Amino acid sequence: MQPLAFVFAFMIGTSVGSFVNVVADRLPAGGSLVRPGSHCPACQTHLRTIDLVPVLSWLWLRGRCRTCAAAIPGRLPLVEAGTGLLFALALASYGLSAAFAAAAVILGLLVAIAIIDIEHGLILDKIVLPASVAALLMAPLWPLVGVGREFYVLSGPLESLLSSLAGGAAGFGFFLAIALVRPGGMGGGDVKLAGLLGLLLGLAGVIIAVWAAVVVGGVVAAALLLLRKRGRRSEMPFGPFLAGGAAVALLAGAEIQSWYLGT
Ligand SMILES: [Zn+2]
Repeated sequence: MQPLAFVFAFMIGTSVGSFVNVVADRLPAGGSLVRPGSHCPACQTHLRTIDLVPVLSWLWLRGRCRTCAAAIPGRLPLVEAGTGLLFALALASYGLSAAFAAAAVILGLLVAIAIIDIEHGLILDKIVLPASVAALLMAPLWPLVGVGREFYVLSGPLESLLSSLAGGAAGFGFFLAIALVRPGGMGGGDVKLAGLLGLLLGLAGVIIAVWAAVVVGGVVAAALLLLRKRGRRSEMPFGPFLAGGAAVALLAGAEIQSWYLGT
């Protein structure tokens, strides 16, 4: 693969990250994604193209609005650069293919879900439910797209659909059981998100995603417990870990499975 291809994938990723920022800013409040155009939330000044270049504009403006000098959140360039990095990793994993495009769309979706959960403690139905319908419709097509690498163990559309249904049921059922056994631990949003991830990744994929989420979530929870100041309630949404686990499954699922199976 040409190094230039990775630069290109990174650049596309930063642009998608830019859109993810708009989604994360507007969707929880119920706003439109297209109107009004990009503007400074402090002074309402309409932003020109030169101020909307992913990552670079924020660095160039040193994180401040050109007109009113209000601080621009560091989340914007971080999400842009992070999504760019994920797209480059997806290219490394899938090569230039339809599978790369599919993985890229899913990664953008996962970043949006994670950011909204971190900032608002919400996993929005208006993201998860349409995405679940799309995932179900796409399920028979994965082998044709090429997403079904060896770790899906899929040979055809029917097997792929069955794996998605089994994965969706497993993810949804597992988190529903946790939510019922320990009320307050998991929210309904986590249950629905786990179902979506199962539909997207299939049975093997959602197992890897949940495993990665629990491992990383456990490490972070232990670190927070050690660092926690007395009297401060530490609440940690699990959605971002699920989304991160899904990204791990998407990018390295085949490698993790063959490592686990010792092959
Ligand atoms: Zn401004």
